[in-house]
Amino acid sequence: MEIADNIAEIRLRMDEACERAGRSSDSVKLMGVSKTHPASAIREAFDAGLTLFGENKIQEAALKIPDCPDAARFHFIGHLQSNKARDAARLFAMVQGVDKLGTAIELNKRADQLARDLPILLEVNVAGEASKFGYTPATVLEDLERLMDLPRLELHGFMTIPPFAADPERARPYFRALRELRNRCEDLAGIPFPELSMGMSGDFEIAIEEGSTLVRVGTAIFGKRKFSNLKSPA
Ligand SMILES: *Cc1c(COP(=O)(O)O)cnc(C)c1O
Repeated sequence: MEIADNIAEIRLRMDEACERAGRSSDSVKLMGVSKTHPASAIREAFDAGLTLFGENKIQEAALKIPDCPDAARFHFIGHLQSNKARDAARLFAMVQGVDKLGTAIELNKRADQLARDLPILLEVNVAGEASKFGYTPATVLEDLERLMDLPRLELHGFMTIPPFAADPERARPYFRALRELRNRCEDLAGIPFPELSMGMSGDFEIAIEEGSTLVRVGTAIFGKRKFSNLKSPA
């Protein structure tokens, strides 16, 4: 029952953050980041009402998804290499974390082969950390038109992972910067990019206050990640 309790507590804290920000509580979706956790944990979360899950390894997801409820939806939240674009387009309801035009072009081609439209989010490295993947804000503006021209990709918005900090307040400027970049892209493109995927276990309340529409919560739902989790029977 622990997973169900964790989900209930996070939903409560999400509602409170929405209230502080004057937002309606249905304006933010909760994703359970299930990477390294077995399908049995996903089923438990699903039974507690969670339907959206995030995985960051193609191979791991390909093995687990068949053992999960059909109605569970998965987003890819890892770094996508072009040679995995075909599997990503096949397995996921959305690919978050598209971080360059070349990857987008490959995803568009693979989605077209599957005769499907594929929602994507662009990952933006707002802080410019050398250790992280992601678009710089300047390159987003540069590539925006060409990304929008890819007929099988639907750009729904943006995601970011701020620099790690023990104090979640430190993440606020990065969340705000992503929202402002989104607003600028909407002005340029003349269409809405409603999705802002930001906030994790340690900082999702701050992210909601800054406009997040999708929080990606792993540890606070499923507990600590251990690689040995994967070896236990699913
Ligand atoms: C692992 C991961 C998360 C979840 O992080 P927690 O701190 O465990 O909540 C969220 N987003 C991405 C992109 C991740 O890789």
